Amino acid sequence: MDELTLKALAKINLGLDVVRRREDGYHEVRMVMQTIHLYDSLKIQKIREPEIVIHTNLPYLPVNENNLVYKAAKLLREEFGIQEGVDVSLTKRIPVAAGMAGGSTDAAAMLYGMNQMFDLGLSRKELMNRGVKIGADVPYCIMRGTALAEGIGEKLSPLPPMVKCPVLIAKPGISVSTKFVYQNLKLDETTVHPDIDALISHIRKKNLEAICSDMGNLLETVTIPHYPVIAEIKEQMMKSGAKASMMSGSGPTVFGLFEDAQTAKRALREMKQSGLARQIYLTSIYNNRRQ
Ligand code: ATP
Repeated sequence: MDELTLKALAKINLGLDVVRRREDGYHEVRMVMQTIHLYDSLKIQKIREPEIVIHTNLPYLPVNENNLVYKAAKLLREEFGIQEGVDVSLTKRIPVAAGMAGGSTDAAAMLYGMNQMFDLGLSRKELMNRGVKIGADVPYCIMRGTALAEGIGEKLSPLPPMVKCPVLIAKPGISVSTKFVYQNLKLDETTVHPDIDALISHIRKKNLEAICSDMGNLLETVTIPHYPVIAEIKEQMMKSGAKASMMSGSGPTVFGLFEDAQTAKRALREMKQSGLARQIYLTSIYNNRRQ
């Protein structure tokens, strides 16, 4: 196999709680992760030259070792002493630096692809163990589906599949730094935490109505006061008939869950007309795990 094209799927957080700040500055989280059918594409080709070459449709993205795809390729090339190089065409659709694990899922796809292409014989678990060296979300992006992520996001417990429903994604034209969000997060006795256990129990029962009522993202307490457009997008989605609407990760991407395709399509049109968001996609829940 000399060439392979792969989809690198994005995630949303159906729930995100921050449990505590550790002494080393990292935050301990409890997140319900969910894969959606919005994806970047990676076309991977073997090349003779011992190099890692990346092309991308986004001119501002790094194509050197700062790209997570490069890091993934380098890690496996070095460990397995692979002589040949790889040429990767990365087509980005997932909003960048937006709380959707875009870079992590590209790295996950690259690890998965190299394992196949170079017959490395690594199991999914072995790939996940390598993925965590690149980023805390990479093991989840290798696994896919519905999962609880704890620790700093790397401790994964698979959950039963989420109810399939249309998902509207809307990212405003602002950038929010994850570091800024965590630095400004206040964790004290007045903090109202989302009930992640209740959310998980509704997912187990496949009760979309209840899932929607217990979704919550603690990081909205930081981002919404600073970036009111996030609240405006949420309101717009609810007005258009979403059953729930929430920020994903540390934002600023907002997603809405819908009961039926027709309402979701109307919501897509109305979001476009509102002018609130720069990147808008209608997609769906994706539940297949990687083997
Ligand atoms: P998370 O959901 O984990 O917070 P994110 O959506 O905030 O992820 P990414 O889209 O992964 O963040 O990108 C964050 C930064 O990583 C960008 O500023 C970008 O320069 C860098 N980066 C490196 N590789 C990639 C990649 N393959 N795709 C996107 N960004 C990348």
